[in-house]
Amino acid sequence: MHPLALPLLSGSRRALAKAITLTESTRPEHEVQAQRLQAQVLPRAGRSIRVGLTGVPGVGKSTFIEALGVWLANQGRRVAVLAVDPSSARTGGSIMGDKTRMPALTVHPNAFIRPSPSGGTLGGVARRTRETITLCEAAGYDVLLVETVGVGQSETQVAAMTDLFVLLTLPNAGDELQGIKRGIMELADLCVVNKADTNPKAATRAQTELRTALTLLTPHDAPWRPVALKASAVTGEGIPEVWAQVEQYAATVDLGARRHEQTAVWFDDLLREAAWKAFRAGVGAERIAQLRAEVQAGALTPVQGVQALLPQMWT
Ligand code: GDP
Repeated sequence: MHPLALPLLSGSRRALAKAITLTESTRPEHEVQAQRLQAQVLPRAGRSIRVGLTGVPGVGKSTFIEALGVWLANQGRRVAVLAVDPSSARTGGSIMGDKTRMPALTVHPNAFIRPSPSGGTLGGVARRTRETITLCEAAGYDVLLVETVGVGQSETQVAAMTDLFVLLTLPNAGDELQGIKRGIMELADLCVVNKADTNPKAATRAQTELRTALTLLTPHDAPWRPVALKASAVTGEGIPEVWAQVEQYAATVDLGARRHEQTAVWFDDLLREAAWKAFRAGVGAERIAQLRAEVQAGALTPVQGVQALLPQMWT
């Protein structure tokens, strides 16, 4: 057994934090240990509801997660908050999942908050977050809230590791919907117009517009029809209704099947990444760069360029 396994399984926060740090390490010996630990705790993971949340910066994600998280934690649920923010890899700092953004939840005995791992590619950040979900579940957290920044690729990654995906929007949705990428709307199982307290009429209007948009986006035979709600993270209005929908979703959708499918897709992603790394190491990154430059200059067609590396692909 890895020395962190037993304390982690008995719910030690310190062991959990250490285990996550081990998982985030890029040192090869740590990666081996982290994988061993994953395998050991995996049978005790999986007993949670995993909720992804997104929305443009300023929509109120951290305020909303704090309000929802405290409300759940006060009912005895054990809530873990994680973040996927690839931009923190670039800046070296963590702007999401930052503890100072959720002061009440941070000090709640039933809550655990972990900022986005920094460093590495989006794929690397996403993988570590998946493994962190497993560790949190093994430590007894039964609600996982995974925050993402709402501006790009990370949403797809978070939707692929959670049971349902919540999109937060603003009461001026008409304008705002323009800014939300259609792809992100398509991922949403639940849309919440936040800051409803600031303009209740506009919030109701936005909710109606969202309902129409969601209806258009959802295939007729979909097992779940995405729902639009309104709430206020500041007053707490609408928070219980949001959670009621999460539970309704969990009771409606076959989460086990969804998770098995997600795990298989995760395997595909890892295999593709590993195969590419191995291939690049085999032929040499310079050789690839050289052929790419020749293709770019028009000296070779793209097919000829690939054939030069992988002739068997066309035989
Ligand atoms: P994030 O960037 O999406 O995490 O947004 P924050 O949670 O930091 O919120 C941005 C600002 O909106 C802060 O000043 C919050 O206090 C405020 N805010 C968030 N939710 C609400 C809400 O429901 N009502 C009102 N009036 N303000 C809110």
